Amino acid sequence: MSAERDAPGYDVPMSKVIFLADRRTGPLAPAVPGELPPHGQPALDQRARPLRDLRISVTDRCNFRCTYCMPREVFDSSYTFMPHAALLSFEEISRLAGIFTQLGVEKIRLTGGEPLLRKHIENLVGQLAELRTPAGRPLDLTLTTNGSMLARKAAALKNAGLTRVTVSLDALDPAMFQGMSDSGFTPEDVLRGVDAAAEAGLAPVKVNMVVRRGLNDGQILPMAERFRHSGHILRFIEYMDVGNTNGWNLAEVVPSQEVLDRIGAAYALEPVASGEMGRVAERWRYLDGGGEIGVISSVTHAFCGGCTRARLSPEGKLFLCLFAHDGYDLRAPLRDGASDAELAGIIAGIWAGRNDHYSELRGRNMADPARKIEMSYIGG
Ligand code: SAM
Ligand code: SF4
Ligand code: SF4
Repeated sequence: MSAERDAPGYDVPMSKVIFLADRRTGPLAPAVPGELPPHGQPALDQRARPLRDLRISVTDRCNFRCTYCMPREVFDSSYTFMPHAALLSFEEISRLAGIFTQLGVEKIRLTGGEPLLRKHIENLVGQLAELRTPAGRPLDLTLTTNGSMLARKAAALKNAGLTRVTVSLDALDPAMFQGMSDSGFTPEDVLRGVDAAAEAGLAPVKVNMVVRRGLNDGQILPMAERFRHSGHILRFIEYMDVGNTNGWNLAEVVPSQEVLDRIGAAYALEPVASGEMGRVAERWRYLDGGGEIGVISSVTHAFCGGCTRARLSPEGKLFLCLFAHDGYDLRAPLRDGASDAELAGIIAGIWAGRNDHYSELRGRNMADPARKIEMSYIGG
């Protein structure tokens, strides 16, 4: 039983948890096997977007209770997390990842929940580091973490073959950090993880800050100053309407342009060109050589047109969008003995039917906000 399940109980209205559990029990059936792309060519979806990135959520558990992701009044001691037997084993994940690689995936990001809570995660990294694209290249292998256990794990992750790491940090002010993460950790714990990662060779370390107006937007400039000249890349993320539990409100979104204006007023910035498809962050650099920052404008500047990401949930469901309602069950055919070719056909068929573009629809007030999956389950 995890530490969070042993925590003292909280009063939870049951209506708050029912649909969350439902989201994990109603998978879509695997699609009819589709045609495999020609060797070396990526699978394309309905909007001609290639399958290039795979985000793998290895656990739905976390040792933080960030208010925008796993609010404690929902994810409390009575919340039912997935049993271990339901999770894909490292061997199952690696096998699926190998098949995705044959269909065009070049970049894999491990996420969660908190991925470093999964025991011996470095063994999974080691298995994934063995994979090669059809052209014979190793994968870009990254991981997103809250940083609380990174100081202990950074060297092992690097030695296992991790390429880079992204660390989430929403505030430098200790009280604000503790309030937002609802954890007993401090910003110093996370900063030690960032430094350990850089020392281990997982550089440049990216640091993600979710900005909420009226909460931590006063930390924008202190964070920018802390990471200028550090070699790390700070990225500001617009607060998103993921899941159903965080009570998202558009008024709390600080548009990326405002973040850039606030920093630019103190330190001149210029854009860094990047034509790479599937890149979510816009890059900027300080004119005085202080390094680079990024902004991720998921709300004010939808980037669905270049979205090349598929997501694999901890128990093996394939989701085609961060805002999807359901995922396709890959674990059933996997455990029923499907061959690699059969699994590749299933995945290719699912990707070929993909037409998701939630953020574009949200921008036009046409999105269906009902019953989305939770970020802590599928990862960022
Ligand atoms: N636990 C790890 C962490 O926090 O880095 C990995 C999983 S977490 C779900 C991945 C990323 O999603 C984090 O950078 C987190 O800040 C971001 N995130 C979670 N909820 C969000 C929301 N409502 N809006 C924007 N970003 C969010
Ligand atoms: Fe945990 Fe990451 Fe969600 Fe925070 S954002 S609760 S650290 S999964
Ligand atoms: Fe991709 Fe869905 Fe996000 Fe659009 S809303 S960028 S399709 S994950």
